[in-house]
Amino acid sequence: MSRRELIHSARRGRFRSGKPGCASRVRRSACVVGHHGGMAGVLLDLDGVVYVGDAAVPGAAEAITWLSREGVASLYVTNTTSRPRSAIVEQLTRMGIPASPSQILSPAVAAVAWLRHERIERPALFVPDATASEFAGLDQLPASAEEGAGAVVVGDLGPAWDFATLNRAFRLLMSDPEAPLIALGMTRYWRADDGFRLDVGGFVRALEYATGRTAVVLGKPDPAFYGTAVEALQLRPSQVVMVGDDIRTDVEGAQRAGLTGVLVRTGKFSPSDLTGDVSPDAVLDSIADLPQWWAER
Ligand SMILES: [Mg+2]
Repeated sequence: MSRRELIHSARRGRFRSGKPGCASRVRRSACVVGHHGGMAGVLLDLDGVVYVGDAAVPGAAEAITWLSREGVASLYVTNTTSRPRSAIVEQLTRMGIPASPSQILSPAVAAVAWLRHERIERPALFVPDATASEFAGLDQLPASAEEGAGAVVVGDLGPAWDFATLNRAFRLLMSDPEAPLIALGMTRYWRADDGFRLDVGGFVRALEYATGRTAVVLGKPDPAFYGTAVEALQLRPSQVVMVGDDIRTDVEGAQRAGLTGVLVRTGKFSPSDLTGDVSPDAVLDSIADLPQWWAER
């Protein structure tokens, strides 16, 4: 999907179709459409905010329905590269949250747009097979090739990483100094059902260190990625709130891009997140508290 299509779909999306007004659950005195501290849009992280593993965060569906009813422009921004948007849509739908791929901005979507914009062909993909479907419109480098890549695209391969795979990415970069290293986000880790797991960031850092190159980051916390999301909502950064469970990728990244950064105490949240050098603009127990917080702004 092109950036133009993303903007178009976000404008037409169900999030903007709600009739502006006040939901009954919040104090009417606090509900002044268009006020809310000048805020008009929300970016929602998915993993750790809307769901954790296969389980929906209690109250998530209701909160998202509230945003829709209030006419708040919203977009899901996720760094997930372990599966395509179609799988995320299926999961959201199962949880009672109607969604479409056009309401999800992911690093893979941004990477395809970036590669097309830069007219780069034959990317080598280090992403799960399911996610490779997002790149179906591009001519990809064969999986065995160790040279000839137009770019090296690294996502969350998870358990599929091994030395040979990481070394193939390294060799592709070393064989062509012009081939950019594309990072599908720089998330450090995430919380799976069985505990924390390494995400893409560490593997990208390893390749940067070994090659002496710097990755092009397409995903959170890159300011340009947040810029694309804000543009899709047709708002200014100061009008948009980012809600996430990652103090770095979500809160710090959003704040650096000029957005309001709200941390939720679900997902990967740890109390130590609040004692570091990043100060969230607000901390909520969960996304279920978002309507009340929004209405009181
Ligand atoms: Mg998250």
